[in-house]
Amino acid sequence: MVEGFRADLHCHSTCSDGTMSPQEIVHYAYEAGLRGLSITDHDTIDAYNEAYPVAAELGMLLIPGVEFSTIHRGVDIHILGYGYDITNKGLHYFCERHSQRRERRLNRMLELLAEHNIIISIDDILELAGEVPKSWGRPHIARVMVQKGYVSSITEAFKKFLARGKSCYCSLRPFSVAETIDIIRQANGKVVLAHPHLLKEKPVINDLLGMDFDGLEGYYNRLGRDQEAPWVKIAESRGWIITGGSDFHGVMKSDVPIGCSWVREDTFNLLYRHFIEVNGGTSAAV
Ligand code: AMP
Ligand code: FE
Ligand code: FE
Ligand code: ZN
Repeated sequence: MVEGFRADLHCHSTCSDGTMSPQEIVHYAYEAGLRGLSITDHDTIDAYNEAYPVAAELGMLLIPGVEFSTIHRGVDIHILGYGYDITNKGLHYFCERHSQRRERRLNRMLELLAEHNIIISIDDILELAGEVPKSWGRPHIARVMVQKGYVSSITEAFKKFLARGKSCYCSLRPFSVAETIDIIRQANGKVVLAHPHLLKEKPVINDLLGMDFDGLEGYYNRLGRDQEAPWVKIAESRGWIITGGSDFHGVMKSDVPIGCSWVREDTFNLLYRHFIEVNGGTSAAV
């Protein structure tokens, strides 16, 4: 085990497309030796209140987080928000709109799949998911496609049907990068560009680097140091925060263990102190 304080700032719970509940993730992360954590579900901030009591009990430091989906020039861009005001109404409302958008999108994608003779019902998905997530995502569908034998893996489901540009893909009125940054800022959160290494399109990268971010995710998943280095350099040259995390999803991405990427205490404290300040000196769930 690695010595010293480690914090994983990127993981997903059953509130979105992960397979462990927020409470389970906190326990699991603690067992893995992590002492700081942020659960960054897609388009929902619900995990924090569920995870907080367990974290407090264990002595795990928890920062509220989120990973918002946006689209820019036709490319999926994920934006992380950290340490925001957990009572901010604008942020809660924004998540609610995302949740409704995702539910409509799920239904639309099931219709498109049915047109390809792939018959999946909401009940099939619920049976596997166990509970109704706040944010329905394509992995929920992909998992059932594997279970019912339509494809042999989640990756294949995306490759053949669910990825952008494939026959059963649907985005359904996504939000822009600018308005997403605005929402996080108004909630006093830190705005971080998620996994920039995945971006290949130069014009998109140039646009994003001109936007109002506080940091970027320089350490990610099992990325090699050489892939991380250019982004670490960009962040350093701008004085941006360099965050990092695993993007753990439980068995949804079984080859990604929690804590496989992490940040040290200094980076974590920067965000944690900000969070405590914003929330009036308390990290208690409300
Ligand atoms: P959605 O939020 O519905 O747009 O789905 C995006 C999520 O699907 C990502 O956060 C990943 O968890 C997963 N995902 C995206 N692309 C792939 C892929 N090619 N193979 C497996 N999972 C993927
Ligand atoms: Fe995901
Ligand atoms: Fe992401
Ligand atoms: Zn993620």
